[in-house]
Amino acid sequence: MPEPLHASNAAFDPEDEYRPEPEPEPVPPAWMDGSLRIGIHTSIAGSYLNALEAARKLGCNALQIFSASPRMWAGGASRIPEADAKAFRARREELGLGPLVIHANYLINLAAVQPMLRTRSIQAFQDELLRGVALGADYLVVHPGSRGDSTPERAVATIADSIRQAAKRVPLGGLRILIENTAGMGTAVGWRLEEVAQIVDLLDELPAGACLDTAHLFAAGYDFRSEAGLKQTIAMIDSTIGLERVPVFHVNDSKIALGGRVDRHAHIGEGEIGAEAFARLLKDPRLGAAPPEGLAGRAFLLETPIDDPGDDRRNVKRLWELAGLEEQAPEAEKNFSMLSAALKKKITAQRKTEKKRKDNAEARSSRRRAEKKKKG
Ligand SMILES: [Zn+2]
Ligand SMILES: [Zn+2]
Repeated sequence: MPEPLHASNAAFDPEDEYRPEPEPEPVPPAWMDGSLRIGIHTSIAGSYLNALEAARKLGCNALQIFSASPRMWAGGASRIPEADAKAFRARREELGLGPLVIHANYLINLAAVQPMLRTRSIQAFQDELLRGVALGADYLVVHPGSRGDSTPERAVATIADSIRQAAKRVPLGGLRILIENTAGMGTAVGWRLEEVAQIVDLLDELPAGACLDTAHLFAAGYDFRSEAGLKQTIAMIDSTIGLERVPVFHVNDSKIALGGRVDRHAHIGEGEIGAEAFARLLKDPRLGAAPPEGLAGRAFLLETPIDDPGDDRRNVKRLWELAGLEEQAPEAEKNFSMLSAALKKKITAQRKTEKKRKDNAEARSSRRRAEKKKKG
C-alpha cells in the first residue's frame, strides 16, 4: 500500500469534534417568486437610493439604472464606495425589487477596431461589471457596438473577445451579461437576432444572455404586431438565441416605422407598434409564463420618454394593465414622477439658454465672415 499523501490527515484534529452545521442552502431573494416583473429605467441622480425609491413610487417591482453617467467616460469616480453600495443592496432587499438591471454606458464600443477606443471600452466595461457586482445587480445590459469598416462576422468575434477581456479576473457572482439587440442604425451590430445569438454563443464560458428591445426589434424589421407575427417572432427568438437566454425585455413603442433602422422610443400605445401588440406580448404564455418558485420571472422594463410629469408613472400603469395584472401591481404613489413640474421648468430654461448661446455664436461668426469679405 502506498504511503498516505498527507500523513497529518490521519492525525487527530480537535476541529473534527466541532464540525459546524453545514451551511444552509441560500434562500432565493423575495422577488424571485416567479411572478412577472415590470419596471422602468430610473434615475440615480443625487443618490443610488433615489432610483429604488422612484421605482417603488412608480409602482414597479423591477428596475433598470445606469451605474454612472451614461454619456461620459467615468474618469476617477468609476468605483462605488462600499458604504453606498451596502446601503443600496439593503434597501433594495427591503423593497423586494428585482431583477436589478444595469444599462452600460453608451460610449462603450466593444466592436471598436481603433485600438485606443477599444482599450477604453474594455476598461469602461470592466468598471461596469465591478459596479454591477458591488450594487448586487442581476443583469448588465450592453449594446454590441458599431463595426465601422469591419465585417459583421469579424465584429461579432471582436465583441465577444472584448467582453472576455473585460470579465477576466472579475468574480461575477450572480451578475449576468446581456447583449441588447439594436435598431441597426449606421453600422450598429446586433439588429439581426442571429448576430445577437452568435455573440452570446461565443461567451459560453461566461454567464451571458440577451435583452431584447421591442422598439429595436420593430425598427430592425421584426413585425410582431399581429398574432401570427408575434408567434413567428417568438419562434425566431427561440431558434436563434433561445427564449431561456432572454430574461429581460425592454418594452418601448417606436416612433419609427417597421424596418426604419432608427432608434426612437415612444410611449406605450402611442407609437407604430400600438397597445394591442404589447398586450399580446405581455400575455403570451411563452414570454410571461410563470417559472417555478425560486426563479426570476421575466422582466419587462420601460425606456419610454418622459416629456411631461407623470409620463413615467402612466407608462408603468399601462404595462400592468396590458399584462392583465393591475390587481397584482404594486401601488404607485399618487402624482409621483421622476420629472417634477419644477424640474421640467428648469430643463426647459436650460435648453433655451443653450439655444440662445448657440444662436449668438452663429450670428457672431457670420458677422465675422461678412466683415472679412468686405475687407478682402
Ligand atoms: Zn439599450
Ligand atoms: Zn433598450
